[in-house]
Amino acid sequence: MEYRTLPHGGEKISVLGLGAGSLHNADTAEVERTIEAAIEAGVNHFDFIPSNSKPFEGMARALGRHRDEVHIQVHLGAEYTKGDYGWTTDAPLAISEFERRLASLGTDYADFGFIHCIDEDADLDRVMNGGIWDYALHAKQEGIIRHLAFSTHSTHIARRLVATGEFDLAMFSLNPMYDYTDASEYGRGEASDRMALYQEFERAGIGVSVMKPFAGGRLLDAAQSPFGRALTRVQCIQYALDKPGVLTVLPGVRGMDDLREILKYLDASPEERDYLELADVAPQVREARCVYCNHCQPCPAGLQIALINKYYDLACLGDELAADHYRNLELHASDCVACGHCDSRCPFGVEQSAHMNTIAEYFGI
Ligand code: SF4
Ligand code: SF4
Repeated sequence: MEYRTLPHGGEKISVLGLGAGSLHNADTAEVERTIEAAIEAGVNHFDFIPSNSKPFEGMARALGRHRDEVHIQVHLGAEYTKGDYGWTTDAPLAISEFERRLASLGTDYADFGFIHCIDEDADLDRVMNGGIWDYALHAKQEGIIRHLAFSTHSTHIARRLVATGEFDLAMFSLNPMYDYTDASEYGRGEASDRMALYQEFERAGIGVSVMKPFAGGRLLDAAQSPFGRALTRVQCIQYALDKPGVLTVLPGVRGMDDLREILKYLDASPEERDYLELADVAPQVREARCVYCNHCQPCPAGLQIALINKYYDLACLGDELAADHYRNLELHASDCVACGHCDSRCPFGVEQSAHMNTIAEYFGI
């Protein structure tokens, strides 16, 4: 398992996490076994929003043995008063359900306390002014919430929340379908705007935990995929992990079989992780923009081409830390020998050898 560092706090977060949205399909024993097996495989980051309250017992049993080893995302705005999941911006209900859920999970704190699933301005206004936000700040002071976080599908709402300066983690829907097509209401925002947002997350020190990495399964099915062909889970996970700011990808699992499928990512070869074919099917990807996929490696001169591009893009947005990371690299854009290997290898049409001149001029090295 690979771990990435939460910028504000320093916790090590496994690149593979687990979402509980579909765990109601398993019985209590299998829920417990699935979480236990995930932890054994090195997963230490869990989101607990199942479709109904049935899985809580199994989740609590597994968590009880490992509470200090894992991070859990618990949401202010999810409620289970009728057994099934419900969404609310009603503060008393959201708060009592948040505390009840912590108790159901057998814990008294959330590593990440979430402002839950806000996609509209009016809903965000209700959250910020109607009691939920005040509670979240108070809970953080009291240690009931260790880090403030939010989930949204909207780039606009994400930016409003980033602007508060209070958040350490964002849960965002991220996959090639949402980035490059308008085939889903969840994929709000143009491709370039979404990429800019990922960079803004990174610049603000807000880690990203990815939801809907397979677009609800549509990307795994050629008949449903807007690209006319299926991608694999491994490709979708790698695609998300390559984006700026992303710390962890949280696929939803229905039980042990799904978990086994997800864990295949850990042993997948570079070829299996490659999502090169996306370049043939998503026209917008051909905007000749580096998506940090590393397909052009190895550079004969030893440059880390994707990383150089990532730092450059962030530095252009004013990220001084990224600029510093660039300067500390062993090899810089100015070390490019213009061999053209990357130009011939890039499936996204980036003329990288020329771009290296731009980057070298920008940084002066
Ligand atoms: S230049 Fe092309 S192949 Fe290389 S990392 Fe960027 S997008 Fe990928
Ligand atoms: S053109 Fe430059 S960056 Fe690209 S592969 Fe050759 S040396 Fe590396």
